Amino acid sequence: MNISIIGTGYVGLVTGTCFADFGLQVTCVDQDETKISLLNSGGVPIYEPNLEALIKKNVSAGRLTFTTDLEKAVQQSKVIFISVGTSSNDDGSANLKQIEKVAQQIATSINEYKVIVNKSTVPIGTATKIKEILNKNVIARSEATRQSQPISKPIDFDVVSNPEFLREGSAVYDFTHPDKIVIGTTSPKALKIMQEIYRSLYLIDTPFVITNPETAELIKYACNAFLATKITFINEIANLCNKVGADVHQIAKAMGLDGRISPKFLHPGPGYGGSCFPKDTEALYYFASSCGYDFNLLKGVISANKRQRELMVEKIKHHLGNNLKGKTIAILGLAFKQNTDDIRKSPAIDIVNLLLKEGAHIRCFDPLAMDNAKNLPNLTYCQDEYETALDSAPW
Ligand code: NAD
Repeated sequence: MNISIIGTGYVGLVTGTCFADFGLQVTCVDQDETKISLLNSGGVPIYEPNLEALIKKNVSAGRLTFTTDLEKAVQQSKVIFISVGTSSNDDGSANLKQIEKVAQQIATSINEYKVIVNKSTVPIGTATKIKEILNKNVIARSEATRQSQPISKPIDFDVVSNPEFLREGSAVYDFTHPDKIVIGTTSPKALKIMQEIYRSLYLIDTPFVITNPETAELIKYACNAFLATKITFINEIANLCNKVGADVHQIAKAMGLDGRISPKFLHPGPGYGGSCFPKDTEALYYFASSCGYDFNLLKGVISANKRQRELMVEKIKHHLGNNLKGKTIAILGLAFKQNTDDIRKSPAIDIVNLLLKEGAHIRCFDPLAMDNAKNLPNLTYCQDEYETALDSAPW
């Protein structure tokens, strides 16, 4: 089966590559010409463990191609995945401009029945919005065609919500070993096609949650908001431990031994970051408010997470004589977590900025994210951990 993936970023590139490895014929589309030429010349624009080898294997086998030609890709594909960015607006709501633009581009390119699958993280109602954009444009095109060819009927399509749960840093593994696949559709025809696409995962007994598009959309936000809450909870316990001399690591270990809690996401630190949790918690809070519901718990999580960065800097200050002016501080790790080069909403970068404001000098190193972080001003970039530690203020 021919499929295309629109948006060849962290999610789109991994999705396209893994589907190609399942045996599907995949075209990855992106509007970024530099990214597509890099991929076409054998380069890989992001770091993910095992991704480069898997791309090479599937490109050589002729199952995976990269292009900027969205129209051709749409026309050749039975299924079109949308995996473009959904950043935040200033008020915290999800910015759907990229999704809407792609929906319009698909509408002007569609030539026969297609399944349009949204993989981007979006608020409830987005599948309906995509459908409306397609309907409007497809009907307008049918009207235009009807004037020259009297027997034309509107092109049929289905819109499916299929949120993605992969984690950066283990994206290929997560995509090929998911704990669930969520498919949101009310169309039996689209469902059958989706089941065919995910056949490789169905065969290894992956649980499938089949639901309506609205529920599928909210499942993704609910998962991310819950995990962000868990991280924030253990950080709040850690802050309390600091005041009373208790050991948060022992507490997290004991809590994790309780099967109802599980040890995952119970690691105290500078708070959650990355391209998903911060924007998704804000978007869910905003969405709930717009429905007339004050999601108080989530409001608390978002503000506690912001405060966590400041508390980290307070802690550093406390250990360095309450004055950071002129002190040299080494920062090991700039990405938002290990095994990735992604610095979007990285706690490390927030902390670096707060330290700079206090007058500290920063020496930094990250094994994967140095290139992405190179445009940050006033930092000394080092070659490795040892060089970074040189001249740093003693604890
Ligand atoms: P990204 O920014 O890495 O990639 C998006 C890509 O879409 C970019 O390469 C951009 O050039 C391309 N694009 C935008 N408009 C386009 C258009 N009109 N035509 C063609 N290409 C276009 O984003 P990402 O991190 O892959 O996230 C994509 C979506 O998946 C978001 O909604 C995100 O919340 C969600 N998600 C992300 C992760 C993650 O770990 N990054 C995990 C699960 C879900």
